[in-house]
Amino acid sequence: TQLPPAPGDPGAGGQVLSPAELARVRADFPLLAREVNGRRLVYLDWGATSQKPEVVIDAEQDYYLSRNAAVHRGAHTLAGEATELFEAARGDVARLVGVGEGELVWTSGATAGLNLLAYAMQNASLGSGGAAARRFALGPGDEIVVTELEHHANLIPWQQLAARTGATLRWIPATDSGRLDLSDLPAVVGERARVVAVTHASNVTGAVTDLAPIVARAHEVGALVVLDACQSAPHLPLDLTALDVDFAVFSGHKVLAPHGVGALYGRRELLEALPTVFTGGSMVEVVTMETATFLPPPQKFEAGTQPVAEAVGFGAAAQYLTDLGMAGIAAHEHELTQRLLAGIARVPHVRVLGPTDATDRVGVVSFEVAGVHPHDVGQVLDAEGIAVRVGHHCAQPIHRRLGAASSVRASLGVASSTEDVDAFLAVLPTVRPFFG
Ligand code: PLP
Repeated sequence: TQLPPAPGDPGAGGQVLSPAELARVRADFPLLAREVNGRRLVYLDWGATSQKPEVVIDAEQDYYLSRNAAVHRGAHTLAGEATELFEAARGDVARLVGVGEGELVWTSGATAGLNLLAYAMQNASLGSGGAAARRFALGPGDEIVVTELEHHANLIPWQQLAARTGATLRWIPATDSGRLDLSDLPAVVGERARVVAVTHASNVTGAVTDLAPIVARAHEVGALVVLDACQSAPHLPLDLTALDVDFAVFSGHKVLAPHGVGALYGRRELLEALPTVFTGGSMVEVVTMETATFLPPPQKFEAGTQPVAEAVGFGAAAQYLTDLGMAGIAAHEHELTQRLLAGIARVPHVRVLGPTDATDRVGVVSFEVAGVHPHDVGQVLDAEGIAVRVGHHCAQPIHRRLGAASSVRASLGVASSTEDVDAFLAVLPTVRPFFG
């Protein structure tokens, strides 16, 4: 099965992992071998967080066992080795998403990256960063555009920024099938738009955004595009440079890496002009009692001690995914998504919140079972060793738009198998009868 190439995803269209390759991949994830409630664990919650391959756990452990030191400081050998590993990891993660090393800022996660951006723009609005930062300044009459599909992490920081600067928040609406409705794009992204913050793939509906027209329109009116790549980075070949977005965020823990580390991408010249938010040690050149000058990006955004071991683990995860090949991973997950959607379609009283075909979609499938609360659905599945997520998945507006208070979400990842999907599909039809 071939994944249809998406614009800016030059690697798309890879071969599905062979059964032998998938068996090797699954063996790389020690946790997948455990049992839950006396059953084989069927982990279908990759959208919330990924499981970790042994190479990532080893990289983090090895760092503490043999290299731990403060980076970018100290003249001793250990500090040099730790710094080298830390910066090499940055390069590995940057290459995974097609950007330069100097364009990738470590954060604690996507939420932190988006807040950093919003606060940096607020600082620019207050005059911080001088003339070079004026392009980030917002005020009354300016518009920030988001979408109805956003995770709260890519919504609330922009709501807050609008409230604090007097800018207006607008949004691209969703269609009934949980995609973005771009039919009125020129009106929604109007001449006063300064920022367009959009998800690459919805963490509720799985829809992959048709970015090209959004980026083209945003740039036509001089707005910056901020991409939430949390749900695309683990599943699709990504070339952020080719996608021509201005900023992007993603979380390590969803991309096979440890918790507590994430990345903010910014085009080099934008990071140079963007005001800082956190200040202190590790990000300065010259400090006097009155003032300070800052290092070039990315260091100017990395005040204080960074999550070094986690970043090293992130680098190992990026290498693991690169070795396996994102195009093959995408093709593998695409095939499983087709199987999952086709199977769900055969179960009565189940409504999928999102596209019901696998085209331009990742393997994040949210659904309702008529008359059964999502928590109850989750419990029945858990009793069979099947892990799904229930709730609103930090995305209340899209649930409201699609007429659901909450949902059950089954989400696939690189090590998901046909057996996982089939185990889930075997239990799903029993849920409603169970509750009479
Ligand atoms: N954006 C999307 C689309 C997500 O799925 C998530 C995670 O659930 C986030 C943002 C926030 O990521 P984190 O909680 O790792 O900062």
